[in-house]
Amino acid sequence: METTVLKKRIFLSFPHMSGNEMKYIEEAFQTNWITSMGANVDAFEAEIANLVGLKEAVAVSSGTAAIHLALELLNVSKGDKVFCSSLTFVASANPILYQGAEPVFIDSEPETWNMSPLALERAFCDAIQLGELPKAVIIVNLYGQPAKMDELIAICNHYQVPIIEDAAESLGASYKGKASGTFGELGIYSFNGNKIITSSGGGMLVSNNKELLKKARFLATQAKDDAPHYQHSVVGYNYRMSNILAGIGRGQLEYLTHRVETRRFIFKRYFDELSHLPGLSFMPELTNTRSNRWLTSFTLNENVTNTSVNHLISSLADENIESRPVWKPLHSQPLFQNSRYYPHKLEESVSDQLFKSGICLPSGSNMTDEEQTRVIDVIQNLFQ
Ligand SMILES: *Cc1c(COP(=O)(O)O)cnc(C)c1O
Repeated sequence: METTVLKKRIFLSFPHMSGNEMKYIEEAFQTNWITSMGANVDAFEAEIANLVGLKEAVAVSSGTAAIHLALELLNVSKGDKVFCSSLTFVASANPILYQGAEPVFIDSEPETWNMSPLALERAFCDAIQLGELPKAVIIVNLYGQPAKMDELIAICNHYQVPIIEDAAESLGASYKGKASGTFGELGIYSFNGNKIITSSGGGMLVSNNKELLKKARFLATQAKDDAPHYQHSVVGYNYRMSNILAGIGRGQLEYLTHRVETRRFIFKRYFDELSHLPGLSFMPELTNTRSNRWLTSFTLNENVTNTSVNHLISSLADENIESRPVWKPLHSQPLFQNSRYYPHKLEESVSDQLFKSGICLPSGSNMTDEEQTRVIDVIQNLFQ
């Protein structure tokens, strides 16, 4: 009788504990600081600020909360426009809707898969004509690859519109030697379970603008005025990170450098073993940038292969291996069907092409060599 034993599941990106997390959690218990204040929160904020070379950081309950606070701090409100990368996770743009503002989506360019300076410039030209400049521009660094920051910053500076850098996926990456996430007026990181390091859930808002971050702390703790009783003049949020979760984050942060090395190593092995296959092109890394290679991704040109994106994903699934198409562009999501969109060139939407042809492979830093071999074998066999 034949028995089928399901092979061990290989996930796209899975939490990878360092071993030091419990030490910080225990300290929190011993001192009874188990809520949203305490030594771990303070230290985690200082450690992140120090790591990325900014003056200050505010630990919050999620990356999404950090983006929401950033928009609030830049006075984004009802009816305002906010420009945002289209090829990203929905969390980049949801907070625009929380504020009652309107997203305008900007396409990617082929060299980083991130925001296209050409599309951004066209969006600004139209905005000037319409007399409605955006209040902010949200630039995403996809899968750990920094965007073309010099070009994008020059355009935003020209129109004097502040940048929020969504570096949820790019902690540990750099652009011209400077940490990803530090190029905007405000930057955000995520410590969700699937990110390069995790606090089980959490985020960080970073900036050199201490005044803004002071206000962020105030807004994130229910906007309580300075008075002996409970007094409130503006809407606040309960967005602070707990001291327990900050402990997990601290244990993880100690290993960030290793995690980046490992993910880059995993990318390199996929590249070495698969890049010769016809029609397969890996996500590029722009000169003078260093991606953290959070997720290894590539595109498949179905015209020159005998396989397809769907077939590849389902063949991996048959072997209990998780893989995913790249993000579905937000401009084509039902949620945003009425939003304006600026493609890279008038006749060329790069994000739509990437969505049709792109695949993300398992890239977790705790994936074993044997597990990676399983993934590689499935793909190589499809090209036999
Ligand atoms: C994960 C992610 C977020 C949201 O972070 P959470 O901590 O899950 O709220 C925002 N933007 C991008 C690009 C992400 O990948």
